[in-house]
Amino acid sequence: MNKVTVIGSLNVDTTIKVKAMPKPGETLHAKEVFNAGGGKGANQAIAAARSGADTHFIGALGNDSNGQYMQELMRKDSVNISPIAIKSKERTGEAYIVVDEAGENSIMVYAGANMALTPQDVQVSEQVIKASDWVISQFESTTTATEKGFELAKQHGVKTILNPAPALENISADLLAKTDVLIPNETETEIITGIKISDEASLKQATDKLHQLGVEAIIITLGSKGAYYDVLGQSGLVDAFKVKAVDTTGAGDTFIGALSSVLKTDFSNIEEAIRYGNKASSLAVQQFGAQPSIPYKEQLN
Ligand code: ADP
Repeated sequence: MNKVTVIGSLNVDTTIKVKAMPKPGETLHAKEVFNAGGGKGANQAIAAARSGADTHFIGALGNDSNGQYMQELMRKDSVNISPIAIKSKERTGEAYIVVDEAGENSIMVYAGANMALTPQDVQVSEQVIKASDWVISQFESTTTATEKGFELAKQHGVKTILNPAPALENISADLLAKTDVLIPNETETEIITGIKISDEASLKQATDKLHQLGVEAIIITLGSKGAYYDVLGQSGLVDAFKVKAVDTTGAGDTFIGALSSVLKTDFSNIEEAIRYGNKASSLAVQQFGAQPSIPYKEQLN
């Protein structure tokens, strides 16, 4: 069982189901509204824990009822959140997700406390980072916290996974130098590399460019097409499972969390780990909500 530490965001999600996306100036009736846990960091941690990893989470919450709710959800899934940073001047992060009948979504995020996470909040968990197989982060909380986490990981010989989402055009060279595995989706890959992804040749071109930035392993997730990897001279496409998607919110997060629970740090089981990530996310896209749809290990065999 891998030990996984996620540094990142927690949000309370409000999902609004509609027949079709509202146009500017339009008012329409929503079919259903519900709240659930979300945030890329929390989703990835919960996906890792439900897949069987011994999981720790480093993040920040407001001193409010949403913060209490998120702590309860993380504990319920056995994600260790001790210590979690409480930012009394900030609200806990929130996301408003509109999903239409075709399963397309639009998301608005208010980062709140997530953007108050400091390098010191990460430093206090140095021993947790040191004991990990994988340290994972994204760009939904502060990059200074991610950089601190990866710096500590490298000091202790621990491998890192960066999910560059939401996409940043300029990722610091220093952070990429401390990244062992980069997991962008198609859009993020295009923004980082400037290469339009259309076929296997363009995927190879993009991964070559990312290798030049100093990253050892690259996995590009491709939605219903699966995921492409290029690691230690080995590359290939691992097909997605054919399912009917109703809500793809958190698909990438589920993939990353599930993958991290099984991926060996020498990458010897890379294809098998990607297939496991594909399986977990194919189950997640068949249900509504980010965290409610993340599957458990028993569903993945
Ligand atoms: P993100 O959610 O970050 O945009 P993707 O859309 O690339 O990421 O999805 C991540 C993974 O989820 C894919 O690699 C795939 O395994 C799975 N997935 C996403 N959409 C579908 C789908 N429609 N059918 C089957 N699997 C899917």
